[in-house]
Amino acid sequence: MTKFEPQIISPDAAAEAPPTERDPRWQAVVARDRNADGQFVYAVRTTGVFCRPSCPARLAKPQNVALFDTVALAEAAGFRPCLRCHPKGRSPPRPMPS
Ligand SMILES: [Zn+2]
Repeated sequence: MTKFEPQIISPDAAAEAPPTERDPRWQAVVARDRNADGQFVYAVRTTGVFCRPSCPARLAKPQNVALFDTVALAEAAGFRPCLRCHPKGRSPPRPMPS
């Protein structure tokens, strides 16, 4: 005889999401928020590269992403700077005038 234990399902699905998805910095990455540039970088474990929040590169899966407060921390963790968004640059790259 199978007994069904009533499970308490939280309506807040985010409670079970990986920490990255709950991190407000990840939301800035998803939004490619240029205002977040320089405040942190995100690294992609599958590529070994870290990026500015506003990097135009294709968004990685959050479970493969690590967030770092500084470029130095990302490099210390073994990541390389992205060649597209140059996270080590002092000022964000400006879009080409059209
Ligand atoms: Zn990048």
